[in-house]
Parts: sequence; C-alpha cells; structure tokens
Amino acid sequence: MTEQTLAIIKPDAVKKNIIGKIIQRIEDEGFKVSALKMLHLTKDEAKGFYIVHKARPFYESLTDFMSSGPVVVMALERENAISHWRLVMGATDPAQAEPGTLRHAYGFSVERNAVHGSDARETAEWEINYFFKK
Ligand code: ADP
Ligand code: MG
Repeated sequence: MTEQTLAIIKPDAVKKNIIGKIIQRIEDEGFKVSALKMLHLTKDEAKGFYIVHKARPFYESLTDFMSSGPVVVMALERENAISHWRLVMGATDPAQAEPGTLRHAYGFSVERNAVHGSDARETAEWEINYFFKK
C-alpha cells in the first residue's frame, strides 16, 4: 500500500553538499518526492518538531543543531514508505548503521546523523502536516 513519510536532510548533510546524492538515492529507491522545500528552522520550530523528545537529555543540543543551518524537508511516497526510508537511513547512531545506509555513509555522530525519517503512520502524518500544512 502506498504511504507517505517525512524526510529531512539535516544541517550537517546540507553543509557537506550532499543534497543531490541523498535525493538521487531517494529516487533510486523508488520514492516519489511529493513535496520539497529548503528552510532554516528557528530554535522554536526545531523544538516544536522534536517535542516528543523534550524530556530527553539531548533535546537542547539536538534543537540547537537542527536550527544551526538550512535543512531540506520532503514528503516521500512509496509502498511501505515509512519502514523503507528507515531502512535506507540506517540506525540512529551512524557507528551502528549498516554499510550501504545513508547514516553509515554520511552520518558524523548520533546527533549529526544526516537524515530524519518518521517512525509510524501517525507521526508521519503529524510531521508532514508540520511542514506542509494544506
Ligand atoms: P531517529 O532519528 O533514528 O528516529 P530518535 O527519534 O530516537 O532517532 O532521535 C531523534 C534524533 O535525535 C536523532 O536522529 C538524533 O539526531 C538525535 N539523537 C537521538 N539520540 C541521541 C543521543 N543519544 N544523543 C544525541 N542526539 C541524539
Ligand atoms: Mg525518531
């Protein structure tokens, strides 16, 4: 069944000039890019996006990082988009990510891990709506 997920090319990856490589991989994996924009999140927008993590010790640092430079936000469409995009990204910690995954190739640390992906249907819908409210 076709579904949508929210993907973000994080500030570390934008700074590395690998937007094109990541989008090429997305298209090679059979995703349709159904919405896309570049933006520089404010600290408050980053905090709102990661509100589920507000009690975590890394919340402040993560939201500083996510508002440190431009990001590319996309809605991706495919069969099993949510789980497939997580497979292509790899584990949260690049040191644990499988070879061939984006985080293995481009991630720098558990925080600066190049890309974001939704984790479930409900969060995907919420996250897509956060950036692409109709
Ligand atoms: P994922 O992005 O794989 O779904 P989480 O939802 O657990 O991972 O965390 C959201 C983001 O917070 C991660 O992608 C990463 O940038 C950051 N993060 C997660 N765990 C840590 C940690 N232990 N230390 C620093 N940053 C973290
Ligand atoms: Mg997550």
